[in-house]
Amino acid sequence: MEFIAFTYVGNFVDRKVIDGVVFNVFDEANRFFDERDLPLRFLYIGRLKLEPGYLINLTTADGKVMVYPLEALVELLYSRLLREMEGQQGIRMNKIFALTTFPLVSRNRYFDFYEKFLGIHETLLGLRMMMLSMKPFEPEGLSKLLTTAKSSGNLDADAKRLVKLKLRLFKDRLLKGVLHEVGHSFGLDHCHNRCVMNSPASMEEWDLRVPDYCDDCMAKLRAALKEGED
Ligand SMILES: [Zn+2]
Ligand SMILES: [Zn+2]
Repeated sequence: MEFIAFTYVGNFVDRKVIDGVVFNVFDEANRFFDERDLPLRFLYIGRLKLEPGYLINLTTADGKVMVYPLEALVELLYSRLLREMEGQQGIRMNKIFALTTFPLVSRNRYFDFYEKFLGIHETLLGLRMMMLSMKPFEPEGLSKLLTTAKSSGNLDADAKRLVKLKLRLFKDRLLKGVLHEVGHSFGLDHCHNRCVMNSPASMEEWDLRVPDYCDDCMAKLRAALKEGED
C-alpha cells in the first residue's frame, strides 16, 4: 500500500463547512481507491499552518485578494512531508497533497499555472508536493449563502436546499481535481477519453467529466503503483 499525506490550509466563511467539504472529498477519494482495488490511500496529517507573514496582497481585476506565494507553500509542504516520513517509517509515502482555500500565485514564471483550473505540483529531491486551490472550484453564490446563514442563524427551506446542492457540486469538482492530480503524480498525462485526466477548458467542461479514470489511464496507474512496490 502506498500513502499520500494530505493536509489543508486557509480559512473560509464557515470553518465547520470547509472541514466537512475537505474530509468528505478525501474520504470519497479513499473509497474510490478501495472500491477499485488500488493500493493507494490518503493519510491525513493535520491542518497546515502558514504564518500570516506569508500572505501577500495582490491587486486583480476583481480588486485586492490575499494570496499565498507558491514557493513558500512548496517549502513548507516539503519539510512537513519529510517530518511525517521520519515519524512514519515502515509505510510507503513520498507525496503530499494540500488543498488551500486561498488562490496560489508565484513571482517565478517557471511556476506559472500550467493549467487554468487544476493544481500545481513540484518535485524536490524525489518528493512530490501537490497543491490545489479550492477557490476556482467554488460554485457561485455559495460563500454568500453561507455568510447569510452565519449572520442570520437561519436559512429558509429553499436556501437550505440550494446550499446542499452547491456543496455537492463543490465536492464533486474537488474530488475530480484530486483524482486528476493524483493521476499526474503517478505519471499520467492528459487524455482525450471519457476520463478525469481529460483536461477542461472551462468549469462547465469540468462539470461534465466523469469522476473516474478511463481504462487506459487506470491500467497506467495500476502499473505505476505496482512498480513502486517492487
Ligand atoms: Zn492536468
Ligand atoms: Zn484517461
